[in-house]
Amino acid sequence: MSDKVGMLLVICGPSGVGKTTITHAVEKQIPGAVFSVSCTTRAITPKDREGVDYFFVTDEAFDRHISENAFLEHAGVFGKRYGTPKQWVTDRLAEGKLVILEIDVQGAVSVKKHVPDAFCIFVLPPSEEELLTRLRSRGREDESKIQRRFGEARREIEVARNCGVYDVFLVNRTLDAAVAQAMGLVNAEWARRQKAVSTST
Ligand code: 5GP
Repeated sequence: MSDKVGMLLVICGPSGVGKTTITHAVEKQIPGAVFSVSCTTRAITPKDREGVDYFFVTDEAFDRHISENAFLEHAGVFGKRYGTPKQWVTDRLAEGKLVILEIDVQGAVSVKKHVPDAFCIFVLPPSEEELLTRLRSRGREDESKIQRRFGEARREIEVARNCGVYDVFLVNRTLDAAVAQAMGLVNAEWARRQKAVSTST
């Protein structure tokens, strides 16, 4: 029997909550952690790197991936489509990697159905007021878009609390503390699983 044990880590949370920073810290600081690059139909922005942040694809290509059953999950977010490449994730798990998915709440529900032992973290803001302040301070969008993201965030938090998918709700009061907490949780969970495998082989 293989002594390699992979782990699927799902990190979710509303826009502006700091989940991308937490995700990248986990990826950098935990040996064996790899970030799964999703496909999306949204437009590339100057900040995005093709193949690093996303694979930017046409609607036709996205449809083809669906028909080829190439996604572990896919969902529509803010009117665009996003999907997690199945083969890449499966291969990395088989190599014993810690595979990180940063996806939305619908995606997490779907992943948990297919991979019940996925470890799922939902990052929460300290309060709704603080989330609104953070969305505004990013200075990326006009007020109507900020309000749309804020409304969406409130709905996402509601779904997350009720869907039974999350192992942990992590409140991001300060980024350093949230990163440290995420590292502690993920390291502990991974160590627990490695130990479970080594005692069963
Ligand atoms: P953005 O376009 O701002 O990078 O991402 C928008 C939302 O899509 C974020 O909540 C992000 O977590 C989510 N997302 C990114 N990739 C995927 C994916 O492969 N599947 C799903 N379901 N959501 C994704």
